[in-house]
Amino acid sequence: MGRKCSICNHPSRDDIDQALLSDQTYQALAQQYNVSLSSLGRHKKHLLLQRNQAIQAQNQAAADEQVRRLIDMEAAAQQISLAALESENYELALKGLRETVRIITATAKIRAELNPTWDTLTDIIREALMPFPQARMAVVTAIKKACDYVPNYF
Ligand SMILES: [Zn+2]
Repeated sequence: MGRKCSICNHPSRDDIDQALLSDQTYQALAQQYNVSLSSLGRHKKHLLLQRNQAIQAQNQAAADEQVRRLIDMEAAAQQISLAALESENYELALKGLRETVRIITATAKIRAELNPTWDTLTDIIREALMPFPQARMAVVTAIKKACDYVPNYF
């Protein structure tokens, strides 16, 4: 982000980022750090994007680990099931199969949750529209027309 962004490269960037996430007005920040209002607005988008990417990467790593463990468990459940089948212990074989199905279902659920696109986008849009309540209302109305679900924090 921003080779050209004066705030991405600002020596007080961390402080500015903190302030941008608090309730301080752009006006106050612009004065305090001697930067323009437009650069603050521009940089806020960089900040939110980077924050979302960091959160997404963390979630992704945690989910990857969960999926890895579930795949191991799935293999174990299958082995138990096959061994039980070979020794004609059908009750245990069926339990193993049920467990395998349960694990496959859990894995699929995690994989489906790995798509954070909607959350990430709504966060970015909501933050970007904060200074423009009318535009925000227009977006919410348009989304409500298009789909049944609008997150209530919007
Ligand atoms: Zn920036």
